[in-house]
Amino acid sequence: MVKVDVKYTKLFINNEWVEAVSKKTFSTINPQDETVIANVAEGDKADVDKAVAAAKKAFHRHSPWRTLDASQRGVLMLKLADLIESQARYLAELETLDCGKPIKDAEDEVYFSATVLRYYAGKADKILGNTIPADGEVLSFTLKEPVGVCGQIIPWNYPIPMMTWKIAPALAAGCTVIVKPAEQTPLTALAIAALIKEAGFPPGVVNVVPGYGPTAGAALTHHPDVDKVAFTGSTEVGRIILGAASAVNLKRVTLELGGKSPLVVFNDADVEKAAQIAHAAAFANGGQCCCAGTRTYVQSGIYDQFITKAAEIAQKRSVGNPFENVQQGPQIDKEMYEKVLGYIEAGKQGGARCLAGGDKLGSKGYYIKPTVFADVKDDMKIAREEIFGPVQSIFKFDTFEEVIDRANDTNYGLGAGVITNDITKALSFAKHIKSGSVWINTYDHVTSQTPFGGFKDSGLGRELGEDGIAQYLETKTVTLALPKGPQL
Ligand code: ADP
Repeated sequence: MVKVDVKYTKLFINNEWVEAVSKKTFSTINPQDETVIANVAEGDKADVDKAVAAAKKAFHRHSPWRTLDASQRGVLMLKLADLIESQARYLAELETLDCGKPIKDAEDEVYFSATVLRYYAGKADKILGNTIPADGEVLSFTLKEPVGVCGQIIPWNYPIPMMTWKIAPALAAGCTVIVKPAEQTPLTALAIAALIKEAGFPPGVVNVVPGYGPTAGAALTHHPDVDKVAFTGSTEVGRIILGAASAVNLKRVTLELGGKSPLVVFNDADVEKAAQIAHAAAFANGGQCCCAGTRTYVQSGIYDQFITKAAEIAQKRSVGNPFENVQQGPQIDKEMYEKVLGYIEAGKQGGARCLAGGDKLGSKGYYIKPTVFADVKDDMKIAREEIFGPVQSIFKFDTFEEVIDRANDTNYGLGAGVITNDITKALSFAKHIKSGSVWINTYDHVTSQTPFGGFKDSGLGRELGEDGIAQYLETKTVTLALPKGPQL
């Protein structure tokens, strides 16, 4: 077992490390062997109150943060990106330990997170309003101002990227934040907090309060001094957060929620390549990905070849110790592990044909065999509900019209993919599919510059790109009366 030094386990409030007011801690568990990695301070309402007070003070109009030149906000963010990269191996190891993802993936995610910080660092002094040809003798223009104190609630599947997708646009806009990492994976958020301090951000600009959702998370979403909540997680919790956000004040809300994303493969596709893309779409991060392309629709002309290939690739997928050179580690925790195994059972009971996997792997840790179901019908449980595990469902279709309707027949709309060499077909698909992202002949290609988020029950608002920073800005319209007629 790789030994990773856990340096930070306290709450990070006002650039200081503090115990929880209650003095309580909670254990974060290693999904490889179910042992306790560390006991972390358990934030709750009293701690959230302290963090929000610090963030509110840091947002005061005369504070060091608010009076800093916008370009200098960018400079601090660039420093943070450099520090994160300089610690890439350590952060990746900590992530792999806490979350179970393969070390290579964890390392890639650290570098990706640094690019997101750099992208938004460049935006800090390029936040522009408009001049407006308003009716009347007036001069009108808009100012884009930071929303204020932001609560940012992070999931466990991509802890470092999800934190940076949220803090980077917020900081570029000039907001202050309270981050609540997922209870399963608090360690890297705390390690990054240390780097935030080292980079020179003033106290209170970023605070990190680990704890549970219904306690620490709920305290943030209900707090009257929090102006905005950004959340990534399940649709179920997203609904709770949306309600809470309007209970005491009208918080701005960004939600990045679940999905049941379709990937459609047409007859003209190269079967080998298409099966590889579809495999990666379904199994990336052990299927623990909100935009996972878990519904693979294959046109009847290549269906039989495709399912054979898909099963072959899944059977070869390496699963095991995430510190070694594997494609898949354990699932995040016992609850998810059992839930995913339950879906696999439902797939078998429901009459889908299991071509690969279909079971847990080993007796220690939360490992599951990459599972492929063929002949899946649209009304089966595995076709309709988000599984969030290494399970691919393959459906057969005949026509373009049919597959668009079937692909859209879901409450979700986060990601979608199409594989074909026919550009008209590909772009018609892109036009008619109800989804926040559409990938053509690739899947899950997410970058700092491209907005990401969902239609329908997959969320509200967008992260990344121009749209991402817009979620942290208020528009203020300023109108000045000018004298009428000749003057001066
Ligand atoms: P998942 O289902 O993927 O575990 P959740 O949506 O339950 O994800 O959790 C994602 C994040 O939301 C975590 O940080 C969790 O602590 C937080 N959370 C869960 N319930 C609530 C809640 N009622 N209010 C605020 N945050 C919550």
